[in-house]
Amino acid sequence: MAAGIIIMISATPKSIKQVDESTLGIVWSDGHDSTYSVKNLREHCPCAHCIDEWSGKKMIAPGSVADDIRPKNIKAVGLYAVQFYWNDGHDTGLYTHELLRQLCECSACKSQGAA
Ligand SMILES: [Zn+2]
Ligand SMILES: [Zn+2]
Repeated sequence: MAAGIIIMISATPKSIKQVDESTLGIVWSDGHDSTYSVKNLREHCPCAHCIDEWSGKKMIAPGSVADDIRPKNIKAVGLYAVQFYWNDGHDTGLYTHELLRQLCECSACKSQGAA
């Protein structure tokens, strides 16, 4: 009997820093070093305004996120998520640690996903 693949993320962000204008970096408790384009993060906002609850379909029209989108503030929520306050006024998205790891754009994660 084959067990399904369950990805358990127990790592938590140790530090979150703005690498440059459009890049965010997260260092995880397991030593993983993630990089993200902030625009990509904003496009993957998991809140009910941005993702249709029922279909899981993204409600953000492609190209509708401004190139100069930036997080104004980043706040840890409990032990499981991070909340971004974007400069377009949007702040309802809670990015779970699991989601953030899925969105990681470092070369190791990218080559894994490109199989
Ligand atoms: Zn949202
Ligand atoms: Zn990665």
